[in-house]
Parts: sequence; C-alpha cells; structure tokens
Amino acid sequence: GSVMEKVLQRRSLRMRNMQRGWQESPDGNKMLEFRKSLPAFKEKERLLQAIARNQVVVISGETGCGKTTQLPQYILESEIESGRGAFCSIICTQPRRISALAVAERVATERGEPLGDSVGYKVRLEGVKGKNTHLLFCTSGILLRRLLSDRNLDGITHVFVDEIHERGMNEDFLLIVLKDLLPRRPDLRLILMSATLNAELFSSYFGGAPMIHIPGFTYPVRANFLEDVLEITGYKLTSFNQIDDYGQEKMWKTQKQLAPRKKKNQITALVEDAVEKSNFENYSPRARDSLACWAPDCIGFNLIEAVLCHICRKERPGAVLVFMTGWEDISCLRDQLKAHPLLGDPNRVLVLTCHGSMATSEQKLIFEKPPQNVRKIVLATNMAEASITINDVVFVVDCGKAKETTYDALNNTPCLLPSWISQASARQRRGRAGRVQPGECYHLYPRCVYEAFAEYQLPELLRTPLNSLCLQIKSLQVGSIAGFLSSALQPPESLAVQNAIQFLKMIGALDENENLTHLGKFLAILPVDPKLGKMLIMGTIFRCFDPVLTIVAGLSVRDPFLLPQDKKDLAGTAKSRFSAKDYSDHMALVRAYEGWKDAEREGSAYEYCWRNFLSAQTLQAIHSLRKQFIFILKDAGLLDADTATNNKLSYNQSLVRAVICSGLYPGISSVVNRETSMSFKTMDDGQVFLYTNSVNARYQTIPYPWLVFSEKVKVNTVFIRDSTGVSDSIVILFGSTLDCGDVAGHLKMLGGYIEFFMDPSLADCYIKLKEELDILLQK
Ligand code: ADP
Ligand code: MG
Repeated sequence: GSVMEKVLQRRSLRMRNMQRGWQESPDGNKMLEFRKSLPAFKEKERLLQAIARNQVVVISGETGCGKTTQLPQYILESEIESGRGAFCSIICTQPRRISALAVAERVATERGEPLGDSVGYKVRLEGVKGKNTHLLFCTSGILLRRLLSDRNLDGITHVFVDEIHERGMNEDFLLIVLKDLLPRRPDLRLILMSATLNAELFSSYFGGAPMIHIPGFTYPVRANFLEDVLEITGYKLTSFNQIDDYGQEKMWKTQKQLAPRKKKNQITALVEDAVEKSNFENYSPRARDSLACWAPDCIGFNLIEAVLCHICRKERPGAVLVFMTGWEDISCLRDQLKAHPLLGDPNRVLVLTCHGSMATSEQKLIFEKPPQNVRKIVLATNMAEASITINDVVFVVDCGKAKETTYDALNNTPCLLPSWISQASARQRRGRAGRVQPGECYHLYPRCVYEAFAEYQLPELLRTPLNSLCLQIKSLQVGSIAGFLSSALQPPESLAVQNAIQFLKMIGALDENENLTHLGKFLAILPVDPKLGKMLIMGTIFRCFDPVLTIVAGLSVRDPFLLPQDKKDLAGTAKSRFSAKDYSDHMALVRAYEGWKDAEREGSAYEYCWRNFLSAQTLQAIHSLRKQFIFILKDAGLLDADTATNNKLSYNQSLVRAVICSGLYPGISSVVNRETSMSFKTMDDGQVFLYTNSVNARYQTIPYPWLVFSEKVKVNTVFIRDSTGVSDSIVILFGSTLDCGDVAGHLKMLGGYIEFFMDPSLADCYIKLKEELDILLQK
C-alpha cells in the first residue's frame, strides 16, 4: 500500500512539473490562451465546485463551448495542481469511435503531449493508453464492457457521459447501470453532458441532480429553406419529374423502386404544386404531414451542386459542411463533384468526407486549414452534427435526412431508412455554421416540412433490436432483463424485449430460465453481434476459422463489393465471378478477400480492386479487423496459435457452409418454386426478396432447399442481403440450438444425424474433432 502510495505521489509531482512547464512554454501559453477563450472557461470554478459537492451533475451547453475537451481536462488539471494527479482516473464516453479518437488527440495536443501519455483513448478493438493515462476517452460501448468485469468501476474517480441528448442506446443503458452503481461507490463522480437544454429529464432521473448551463457564444446563422435556396441559386425545380429523375438516378435505389405508386402520385401532386407555385406555406397540417413523411429524397445532388457552386462563386471565404444520409450518397456526390469544372478543381476546392467508417488519416484532414484560396467542403453524415466540431465552417447545407435504424417489433425486423431529422437536429445542424462568424444555412426542404418534423428524435433504445443489449444485461448479473430495462429513462416495448430474449434462447446463449449458457458467456465478451460471435466460435471449434473470420469481419465492417449506380450490371458480373457456383455471398466475400491478399503480394492490389469493383479501403478494414478478432479470441482462450491460419476455404466447403448456418440461424428462408421462378419464405412465413447484388439473385435456380442470410432489412418490402445456400442436413445439424456447455450430448445427437444423412465430409470432421472439442470446451 504505502509503496504504491509513494510511487503515485512521485508521479503526481512529475505530472505537475510537466504541466507547469508546458503552460509556461510559448506554444503551451498560446494554447492556454485559446482555451481560456472558450465559453466553458468562465464556468470552470463553478463546475469544479459543483462536481466536488455532488455525486451527479448535469451540464448543458452549445456544441463547441468546450464541454468534451475542457471539462474532463479541468478535473485532471486541478487534481494535478493539487498534487494528486496520479490518483485520479477519469473516463469520458463518446457515442462514436471516431469522436473518441478525435477528442483524445485534441486534448493531448492541448496538453502538449503525445496521445497515450496522460490522455488516451479506447474504442472497440483499438486504442492508445499507457500506464500514465489518467484521462481516457472511450466509446460508451467500451465502458459498458468494462462494467461486465468490473462492476464497481474500482479505481475510477470520475465518469463523464457525453452527448446524452442524442439518446443513444448505449448511453441510455449506461445511465441505468451507473444509477444502480452510484450508491455502492459514494466517492465516484458522474457528470452528464448534453448539447441541448433538455437537462431536466436527466436531472430528475438522478433524483434532481444539479444542472449547470454554459451560456454559449455563437454567431447568428441565417436559415434558408428550399424556397429561399431556389431563389438564391436560381436553380429551376420546375416539375416533380425532375426531382423524380434524380431519385431514380442517384438515390438509394431500393427506396425508390419500392415507393408505393399510389401514395407517390398523391404526394407528387402536392410537391409539384408546391414547387410550381413556389408556395410552401398554405398547406393544411395534414398535407404537410404527408409531405414530411414522403420518404424518397426529393432533393437531388444537382441542387446540392448548385448550392455549392453558388457558395464558391459568390460567397465569402469559409468552409462548407454538407449533411447527407450515409456513406453511399456521400461517395456518389463526391464522384459527381469530381467531374465538375469548378467544384472538381483541386486548386480551388477541397472536397473531404466525414463518416463513421472513414480511415483515421482521412479524418485528420477535416480539421486542418485548407491551402489559401481553396474552399474546404466537407460531406458528412449526422456525425458532424454534435460530436465533431470543424472550426472554420461558415456554410451548412442540410438535406434534412439522416439514416436511422428503426425497429419493427411486431415483425421483428430492423428497418434502415433515411428519414427526416427532428427539429432539434435541424437547429443543431444550422448552428454549426456560426462558430467563427455569422453563418448561412441552406435547408433543402420547404419550411412547412421543417415545421412538420418531430421535435426530438426517438431514443435509440426504442428503435433497435435488443439482442446484444439483452445479452450484456444478462452478463451484468442485474436480475431479469425486463425488470432491468423497465428502469430506463424511457423503457422499450415489452414485445421488443421478448423478441430479444427469444432470439438469445434460440441461438443457445440463454437457457430456458433465461440464464446465460456457456456459449452466452463467450458471446458477451466478443465485441460483435451475438450471431457473428457464435459463428466465430463455431469456426474455431470446427477448424475452418480462417474463412469464417473473413466473413465475420466483412459482415461487421461493410460490403466490400461496390455497386456504382451506372455500372450495376458490370459490378454484379464481377461479383458473381467470385461465387464459383457456391451459391454464397459469404464465400464470394472470402474469395474476393483472398484474391486481394494474393494481388497485394504481387503488387497488383489496385488493379485487382478496380477490375472487380471492390473497395480497397473496406478490404483493408476487414484485414485489420481480422487481426483484432484473432487477438481477442486468443485472449479469451478460444483460439490457439495455429488454428488461426491453417485452414483456407478450399479445405472443407460444406463445413464452412455449416458454420455460416450455425451463426445465422434462425435467419433462414426456404427456396420455393425452384423450377420456374424462385421465391423465398422466412421461418415466420414472410415473403422476402434477394438483394440485387447478391450472387444468388443471378441464378435461375438454386440447388439448395434453404438460404441462410445475414440480415433482413425492411425497406417497404423485406430484403435479405448476403445469403448462402445450405442443405437440409446442415440445417438440422447446425440450425438447432447448440449449447457448447453440453457438447457431449450434442455430439451424440449429431452423430446420429450424421449417420442418418451420410454426409461424409461432416461425419469425418466430427469424429476427428470430438476429442479436441471436449478439451477445448472444458476450459
Ligand atoms: P463541445 O464538447 O462543447 O461541443 P469541444 O470541447 O468538443 O466542445 O470543443 C471546444 C472547442 O475546441 C471547439 O469549439 C473548437 O474550437 C476546439 N476544438 C475541438 N476539437 C478540435 C480539433 N480537433 N482541432 C482544433 N480545434 C478543436
Ligand atoms: Mg462535445
């Protein structure tokens, strides 16, 4: 004890000397001056006092006022100043990986240190943190995971939960857990930070915790709605057809294809009328509603282009931030802009992108100053709405939508649609333009649509499947899932909870009494969706780990197969070359990845990707995720050194198919009517359609009675994305509940089946592996 105490005291002194040294250096001094100019600085003493005196404090303040970068730092600095620096341990959670990294880097820079010294970060499968790290920025998911093994957060002195106004699922979940934890840790400090003024909700959740508001300072931003934008740019939106063409061309196609005809005509008339008369005001509330829930994105890239042109030609200097819905439309627009004489000219315009899956090197560019006389344009998802601040933004273009997952509990189907944002988001987006000088915002929708927006967005907990969440709740050992969730800020529907429990029982993660099984315990450790986790574990057990690893990494990153709108056929053909009559998108992915590795060795990776419509960036991401999974699995004792590599796809195809099935079950549909035209029915008898870019969509018939699929998404109709054909025997053997706790019993049953079905490759494998299995699973 006392030796440790002495070490920490010495370290604290060193920290203090370093801090003072930096603050007195010219660079440090300049930085300090900047920091003092932030609105949060004026409240510093008040904030420190409130935090010292109360266990929970709720802090609100406009984006950019210095909550994230300053507040945790104030604590750290005051601890260091009082000679206790090495004794504190501060955690600050962020809803997204990229913002955790960005703020950690920023704070380290402000402190004149490299990342990983006193300031570190940790996100899923990645992080920089050293033994001197006393301020850690991490995702809320990471803190939840930590709570699994460290229920009291021993050693942590302060927890900041940031961006709570977004009502992300993990944040809501964290608040339940922390609320439960506080009485056990009276010395722990919890600070909630929100960008909007709805602090009362959180304060009352924590029994009337004190609220502090940081008065912001932003310049006024003028709001231009569609009617104004058309006038400013002189863009002619004369008929609905023109808008419609755009939709056909560029928008997320499924959305468009499936828009119900009848409804569309009705709304066509409405929008046509509005556009022609440029009259957006005189609609009944009902008409406004239907206009507002009209899903297809009526405003096209051409209009965005026109606005950007207008800014570049006519407006004062300043960066432009364009809010779009997702990676697909961001990359489409970027390509379109490249071909533009002005916007595509790198000497005059710098187009950057900002979305959740971008590389960290690319991420840094968005904060940097562009060269002189070059206009910076950042195409971003709603990530840039609150958690990331780009300082020099003067113009904001807001398409009014964000891709939002919703969850249809009745049909147990997640839906992913670009949908209208809330009024709060629209205001927030607009505010991003007034950071450094008066700004200008171009909302690409009529004012009446804005008025029909919901005031706030629905909390994520109420619009996502709860599978992973329920698994985590179970491993927190906090009693029944339903009971636990009922103490949320806004509890989810009980049907959604029941569906999740049902699912976890079905895949064998929970037993009949809702207790975690052996398998469930492993699944809770793995930072992936439970079904993918199960696939990984099965891959290690059945020694076809390498291809399965690629599949799981691919499914957790995104599809590396590109589908450019104007070359859909070519892209589809290219993809089908990887399928080799496997009838499997998953195996096509494996082949594409393995081909890429080979091409890389030969130095022809670029050419390979180009020829095959593959995204090098995504393949790279899959590659590094693979490495990280290996690390975690080894760490959990689920993988030994040589299982990792020695088993390529060609070794045993039906085994890979079987393992895919074991993970994706009950995501399965029967193949009906194979002779003439195919149709597909899921377990609950629902009709589903194949995603156009699936290799299986290119066949006339599929010689398998079943397709297992990774994802079922409702986009007006239900689509299944990547799928793999499997046989009856595989479904029977691997589609059932496999509880790894009872391997012996299960194997006996399997043995019976194998004999029955006489599937030699499987039987062979089982016999060889039986002993190894027993040993492995006894651990
Ligand atoms: P909040 O959390 O209240 O939205 P932040 O603490 O993230 O605000 O940011 C405070 C200020 O610090 C911003 O207004 C900006 O001026 C500056 N800042 C933040 N991140 C960076 C960065 N990566 N590079 C330069 N300046 C930054
Ligand atoms: Mg912040």
